[in-house]
Order: sequence, then structure tokens, then C-alpha cells
Amino acid sequence: MYTSTMFRRYARRLLASVALLLLLPNTTACSLSELKMIDVQANPPVTSVPAAAAVAIPAPASAAETDATQSPVENAEPVVPSSAKAAPEAIDKQAEKTDANILAGYLVAGKSRSHIDGLAPSFKAQLVEFFAAMPDDIRASTSILSGYRSVEHQKILWDRAVKKYGSDAAAAVWVARPGRSHHNMGLAVDLSYADPKAIAWAHENAGKSDLAFPMSWENWHIEPRSSRRR
Ligand SMILES: [Zn+2]
Repeated sequence: MYTSTMFRRYARRLLASVALLLLLPNTTACSLSELKMIDVQANPPVTSVPAAAAVAIPAPASAAETDATQSPVENAEPVVPSSAKAAPEAIDKQAEKTDANILAGYLVAGKSRSHIDGLAPSFKAQLVEFFAAMPDDIRASTSILSGYRSVEHQKILWDRAVKKYGSDAAAAVWVARPGRSHHNMGLAVDLSYADPKAIAWAHENAGKSDLAFPMSWENWHIEPRSSRRR
């Protein structure tokens, strides 16, 4: 802190022996001593008052700190890929080829895993078989938009539908009452198709996995065939 040349001169005049005792350890201890000397020479006013020199010293020190933090920041850029690492980690977990993990791979981006995790185990297995049977282009055009829904979420959809269609009866055509939807039981999935060919394939082949599209007006709503045989 007392490394300014002017301050040294000043101090030597007044307290030569004491100043030397203080300066020697400071100069050797501080790796920035050269930087500080250069700064002091480049800014004459600083050298006029020892107190001002003490204030000026943090400037190069903080500049050096900035430089020091810049390389960590550059190193931090790989943090962006490493935040993308979150996905590979998830994929690592998906390396366990559970039915839920496989189906999560078909879930529309941004949708909660709960759509998959809440499905009945036997239905998950049927869906895995169904997707596995798809030709590559069909599979690429088919995703899972919705699956398990809580009763609370169903109530939100129901209230919205009643508002939209004007009556319970009209709403019931489109949305099941809370607790009544097969989605609430983990026994229904709404598919999303990117190509009409995918719709055709799904409807032709669902039966092979014992799946069905029970509601003709919802060509995306697929269920285990058994769940409506009762
Ligand atoms: Zn549905």
C-alpha cells in the first residue's frame, strides 16, 4: 500500500528507518508493485500527496483483477455448453431404457415429464411398442402433446371449455369433467402430428399395439383399447 516512489521519498525523509522496515516486505509481497509504479509515473498529481497515491493504487489493482476475472469469464463460456450438459445428463438417465424415459423423448419440448410419468405402466409399454413400430419418417412426425393430467388441471380445462362453449353439455363434447378424463387416470395421450401421413399411420396401426382412438372427433387422443371395453 505504501509503494509509491514519492511516498517512499517522503517517508524516507521523515521516518527513514521505519519506512524501510515497512516498505521492504510490502514491495516484495505485492506482485503488482511494478504496475503501480508505472501508474504513479503516468499520473503526476498522484505522486504529490501520499494519501492520494494510496487511493490511486486500487485502480491498477482492480484493473488487474478485471483482467484476472476475464479469463475465468472466457473459461465460463463453456458453461453454456455445460448448461447444455443438463440435457446429456438427462439423456444419461434416459440411458436406462425405461418406458417412461423412451416416451419422454417423444414429449413435445417444454412439456412436463409428469405427462409421461403419470401414465399407467401397461399403457406406457404399449406406447413404446407403438412408437417403435413406426417407420422413421412417421416417428419423426409424431410426438406426445399431453398425457397424464391431474384432476386440478382437468378442472382448469373444464372451466375454460364451459366458458368457451357456453354450457356443460357443449363443453363435455370436448373436455371431460374433472376426474372423469382418462387423462386423469393415466390412460390417455394426445398425440401431435407434423404430417397427415402420421395421422393415417397411427390410425391404421394403433390396434396392433392394442391401442385405439376412441373419439372420432379427436384423432389425436389415443388410449389402451381395453380401457373402453368394460
Ligand atoms: Zn385427450
